[in-house]
Amino acid sequence: MTAAASSSPSSPNSPTPTNMLPVLIVGGGPVGLFEALLLTKLGIPVRIIEREYSVSPYSKALGLAARSLEIFRFAGVIDPFLEKGSPITNINFYSAGNYFASMPIVGTPEDTEYCYGLFLEQKATSEILRDDLAKLGVKVDYGWELLDTKVVESGSHDSTYVETTIRRALSGDNTAPGENLVIGIVDQHTEQKDKEYETEVVRSKYMVACDGGRSTVRHKLNIKFPGRTLLSKTFMWDGIAETDILIDGVTVISNPNKPAMHLFPLSHGTIRVQLEAGVMEDGEDLAETTKNLTIDQFEAMARDRVYPATFNIKETSWLTGFRVNERRAEHFVYKNHIFLAGDAAHIHSPAGGQGMNTGLQDAHNLAWKIAFTLQGLVDPELVLPTYAEREPMADRSIEVSSAILQRNQTIGYGSHYMKLAFFSLAPYVLNIFRKFNITPDVAMLKLRYVENYINRPGPSKTQPKDDHQVGIRARCGVIRAIDSTTLSTPSTTNNNKSFRLHELLVGLGRFHILVFASTALNSPTEAKQLAAHLEHYQSAWRGRWTYSGNLNDGFKDEHDLFKISVLTGPYQSTTHDTAGLEMFVAKAAGDGRVYEDIEAKVHAKFGFDGKKGSGGIVVVRPDAHVGYRVEGSQAQAWEEVDRYFSAILVGGKGARL
Ligand SMILES: Cc1cc2nc3c(=O)[nH]c(=O)nc-3n(C[C@H](O)[C@H](O)[C@H](O)COP(=O)(O)OP(=O)(O)OC[C@H]3O[C@@H](n4cnc5c(N)ncnc54)[C@H](O)[C@@H]3O)c2cc1C
Repeated sequence: MTAAASSSPSSPNSPTPTNMLPVLIVGGGPVGLFEALLLTKLGIPVRIIEREYSVSPYSKALGLAARSLEIFRFAGVIDPFLEKGSPITNINFYSAGNYFASMPIVGTPEDTEYCYGLFLEQKATSEILRDDLAKLGVKVDYGWELLDTKVVESGSHDSTYVETTIRRALSGDNTAPGENLVIGIVDQHTEQKDKEYETEVVRSKYMVACDGGRSTVRHKLNIKFPGRTLLSKTFMWDGIAETDILIDGVTVISNPNKPAMHLFPLSHGTIRVQLEAGVMEDGEDLAETTKNLTIDQFEAMARDRVYPATFNIKETSWLTGFRVNERRAEHFVYKNHIFLAGDAAHIHSPAGGQGMNTGLQDAHNLAWKIAFTLQGLVDPELVLPTYAEREPMADRSIEVSSAILQRNQTIGYGSHYMKLAFFSLAPYVLNIFRKFNITPDVAMLKLRYVENYINRPGPSKTQPKDDHQVGIRARCGVIRAIDSTTLSTPSTTNNNKSFRLHELLVGLGRFHILVFASTALNSPTEAKQLAAHLEHYQSAWRGRWTYSGNLNDGFKDEHDLFKISVLTGPYQSTTHDTAGLEMFVAKAAGDGRVYEDIEAKVHAKFGFDGKKGSGGIVVVRPDAHVGYRVEGSQAQAWEEVDRYFSAILVGGKGARL
């Protein structure tokens, strides 16, 4: 074994904040790649290592949830996903091989632009992210494997760092033969004793461990991974088959006396079949079972489930087996310097397609916190621990997937006929079911973080409803831009000037301040005061806090942390006195844009009445969750928002980079 020279922490070559890598990312799966891309777009230098030599050809995940599409949009990377993926909008239900019903996958259309699941294999998702990263000049260090890591503590946060030993095989690769063919089993890979390696010690300010369910980082740091491994096993096949079963959406085959079978469309005419295969036998080794499973045997099992429909395999690209683990790392934050993300932090059944999506959101939640820390804009000891707000989200994903899995595995006439009843009624009474409908959960549109250092309740006298509390995902809705030429045009949601509120939230490192002005702009006096507050605070905040890196998100000022948008309630130019609004529009305060909340629905989604009162102000965090909200849009409300920023932001100007 060859060891490359490396400096010890106590040597004269000890790293200093200026010669140290800001962030090491371990694992080039979708989560590691997304984290690398986000940090790079936030102007933070990263190194990303991956033990394999390319993106994994095995696509475990096959779909992107609405929330993942939203965050891709905020991050400016959505286009290739929409180009390559296929929106899936329905679930087909079969009783054995007999078609029974189809049910639309419902989102709440006004609340997201993406009312569907986007089917795109994990391989393609990873390749898009890898290519986007390469366009920004960052190449994945393929073939490098993390061996060990520790946090070297030296009294203060700023002088503490992460020391990581990595190696690369000088011949062959880092993987044991066949290791990747069976998925979903948690164990450590075996050391390959007969290989030669070169090793390197990397010192970094922070590390993000995205090294998958078997995470070496998690093992090395002794972070427990409690949960359970289910006794049941699943076989999974990808390939081309001739079948008369409908596969234009997710297809569920239910039998009264056999576990469920699922079919999913993949790209280029291929499909995925997942077969629940009962429980493990005493002493059974799933890797062995999978190795011995022939394509003919799998085909016979599938035919048995779909009879009297047909199923003939033509080509096979992957046949594997897995047991479901439901586990969550005890903590995602280690000494405020190492962060677990993706499968390294949580794993569960693929049912409901939550795994990769949860991981992508981990990455989004963490990136701006690390970037702001390195920019010297926040106190790391107070802001980095808030990444723990992802832990309950992982618990929620485990719960959602576990509930779906349980339904799929339940055998018996009772459960079968319940499913038949549900699927036959659902298309007709969907609105009644909407309340009980799990789709917004699966689509991850109901995420809400706990109150913490960055999610602070305002001084409201009345407790806002759950949906309007801080920590909630910033919701969406239709608005239209108003300017002096369109002020008198009648408002309509179909107007070509109308668009979704989320378009205002595009970007990565900005706070979006949404001023819900309700009727305040009807009065010229109030409109004038609001314009004055807006100008005053915007210039005060810009003077105090700027982002010294380049915020590569398409806005005119790449160093500006604050983007303020004003939304007025609905107005009718024919019946309303628009003098205040005209004055406000003409004044072009702040960014100079005013938007009409055409049906007052967006006000309502944030807990304000768009038709009376003076609305409120909402601070949307850079990852599009509500950080702060206050009632009213005049002096006192602005002072409160100012207090919020003064509490969570410090100095700035790239201090820790
Ligand atoms: C059958 C199946 C279907 C699924 N379907 C869905 C779905 O539809 N939707 C969904 O959201 N999720 C789904 N999932 C889950 C999803 O595949 C995972 O959640 C996702 O792969 C997690 O991504 P990741 O980047 O965290 O980890 P991984 O994809 O596991 O990537 C980790 C990377 O780290 C590398 N690595 C490991 N150890 C080291 C080391 N020591 N040094 C350097 N590199 C290392 C690995 O080689 C790997 O490339 C499914 C899972 C399964 C099993």
